[in-house]
Amino acid sequence: MMRLLSPCLEINERGRLAISGCDAVELAGQYGTPLYVMSEDEVRRVCKSYVQSFQKFYGGHGRPIYASKAFSCKEIYRIVVSEGLDVEVVSGGELYTALQAGVLPQHIHFQGNNKSAGEIAFAVENGVGDIVVDSFSELRLVERIAEGNNAVVNISLRIKPGIDAHTHDFIRTGQIDSKFGIDLASGEALEAVRQSLSLEHVSLKGLHCHIGSQIFEVEPFVHAAEVMLELFGQIKSQFGVELEHLNLGGGFGVRYTQRDDALPYERYMEAVSQMVHKKCKDLGLDQPEIYIEPGRSVVAEAGITLYTVGAIKEIPGVRNYVSIDGGMFENPRYALYQADYTCLLANKANAPADYIATVAGKCCESGDLIQEHTPIQRPEEGDILAVLTTGAYNYSMASNYNRNPRPACVMVSQGESRIIIKGETYEDLVRNDV
Ligand SMILES: *Cc1c(COP(=O)(O)O)cnc(C)c1O
Repeated sequence: MMRLLSPCLEINERGRLAISGCDAVELAGQYGTPLYVMSEDEVRRVCKSYVQSFQKFYGGHGRPIYASKAFSCKEIYRIVVSEGLDVEVVSGGELYTALQAGVLPQHIHFQGNNKSAGEIAFAVENGVGDIVVDSFSELRLVERIAEGNNAVVNISLRIKPGIDAHTHDFIRTGQIDSKFGIDLASGEALEAVRQSLSLEHVSLKGLHCHIGSQIFEVEPFVHAAEVMLELFGQIKSQFGVELEHLNLGGGFGVRYTQRDDALPYERYMEAVSQMVHKKCKDLGLDQPEIYIEPGRSVVAEAGITLYTVGAIKEIPGVRNYVSIDGGMFENPRYALYQADYTCLLANKANAPADYIATVAGKCCESGDLIQEHTPIQRPEEGDILAVLTTGAYNYSMASNYNRNPRPACVMVSQGESRIIIKGETYEDLVRNDV
């Protein structure tokens, strides 16, 4: 029998895929396809494991922050906050959604490499707890907006530590050639600290780095912690200031296929904490609060997407196209960067996966594929095809290409299901048309 990737998935007594006790074929029947399904139980399990690691390795002196670009909607903010996580947002829209969900502004961290003046003003007016400044021009902008609001705004600085994490080029962000952050090696980082300390309306609280995404090695994270704490040491000796927090970013790898060898998150936390404790001791620093910022790993394995199989085109000697009623409009990741996925037929999950399929979407682009040459059970029209590990960067990257409405998202927990995002209607599609 195939190994399912997430603890929330199983094959039930009817031989069908089930998620948190809900039969996937019944979910497809009840809510229609395409359908995003998220397991609340799995999201909560992961959140708890992060919170517990902070207790274990840092005595609670730090916290996980959910990087919400992975999946942003009101209900996910409520869930992660109820588990004790802060949230990170990267746009006015994510910030608005978090505030609407009742997230307290002091628990919000605002990132982004080119926030607009309007977005910064929105954050300042709402008392967002941590604006992560990405450039010198943004530092001036935040100072000006804070001054106009008679406020002193807590900021941190996003630093490019120059770490090369072994991952796909498009999701690498810590190296020198990156649009994100302020460069460490050239001395820009210390200069940004100097300027921040001299400004009246910003209060520099910490530093931030984020070295990439879908990383399976521990070493890059350990190395990033080392480099960043050395910078803390330099700041102390040059300016006599010990910053309060160090945010080490996210990027922990998840299982898209059985080849992905994801470590338990605790292993990253343990290795990094050893470096943090050692470096602080060596440099005579009080240990800053440590933040981490996982996005993908909080939600990815909690999600699956369900489709109905339509036309099947077998081209002898070439490939077998199995068409589904979704595509790049609701999951653009294969079209964007050939992302790996595991596919299976939910209604025959126990049958051998001995048919090699190219799963094709319904958009008018030949690159609109979900996966190529992937083993699934022998398909027939009307089967329910499930794609696993779609909780991150799927709904949040969806579009209305070809004027396809975005599908609904259903949350499941202990055998119960509920809608957390309604599917769009055709009226929704023309709502802003004039
Ligand atoms: C995207 C992002 C994250 C989350 O990355 P994951 O790979 O989803 O864990 C964290 N911090 C920042 C600044 C990001 O841009």
